[in-house]
Amino acid sequence: MIEPKPSSGSVFMVVAPSGAGKSTLVNALLAQEPAIKLSISYTTRQPRPAEQHGREYYFTSVEDFLKRREGGEFLESAEVHGNYYGTSRLLIEDQIKAGTDVLLEIDWQGAQQVKKQFPEAVGIFILPPSIAALEERLTKRGQDDSHVITRRILAAGGEIAHAPEFEYVIINQEFATALSELTSIVKATRCRFAQQAARYTDLFAQLGIHANPT
Ligand code: GDP
Ligand code: ADP
Ligand code: 5GP
Repeated sequence: MIEPKPSSGSVFMVVAPSGAGKSTLVNALLAQEPAIKLSISYTTRQPRPAEQHGREYYFTSVEDFLKRREGGEFLESAEVHGNYYGTSRLLIEDQIKAGTDVLLEIDWQGAQQVKKQFPEAVGIFILPPSIAALEERLTKRGQDDSHVITRRILAAGGEIAHAPEFEYVIINQEFATALSELTSIVKATRCRFAQQAARYTDLFAQLGIHANPT
């Protein structure tokens, strides 16, 4: 029996305009792949009726957020739709050290910052089938005021313009298809040479495989 070593975690970044289905897809992925750790961001946005502190986000004040940012607590941070969002550096670095896969639901600005620090991070952009579908989904979700929805729809074009910076693109038209594509990306990433070599060091040594054959 070949024993894998827990020293081979990957960083996944899922980015999309608001309403594209990012959180729904990520939650469905995590239900299938509970070993992936979801990064819970800090935000200055008001909680939506269905959201809980510590589950979707750590909700905080602008003052507290800026203090944490000054203190270097964030791996990345950005202002999105008039609110601040940031990823805890400590949480991510601990997971990576432990060899756990980590998933960040962040915006394109944050993804650029993470990529600079972790070039191997896998970027996945979720596209809606149309802007009309985005509007319909945000309205049906029923969690945001109409002016918030309008602001997000107006921002969508500018966000979508950053899709070419990402390694993978998923079109979330048929949910089951999009979920299966997201799962496939996670599985393929786990088969990258570097991940497999870190996971199966003994086997690779026995088979005489060296990381950089020249
Ligand atoms: P959503 O569009 O329904 O997911 O609305 P949210 O208010 O939850 O998120 C607003 C935007 O902020 C989205 O683009 C998120 O991906 C982004 N976001 C959330 N958390 C973070 C974070 O920690 N860092 C960055 N840079 N962006 C984040
Ligand atoms: P985001 O996190 O990108 O803002 P959500 O995951 O909250 O988006 O999805 C927005 C809304 O669209 C939710 O009400 C969700 O149930 C719905 N939704 C997600 N994927 C699809 C899909 N493929 N077809 C139709 N509705 C969808
Ligand atoms: P929402 O307020 O609807 O939850 O999120 C709005 C946007 O903020 C989404 O595009 C989401 O991906 C982004 N966002 C959420 N958390 C973070 C974060 O920690 N960092 C960055 N950069 N963006 C985030």
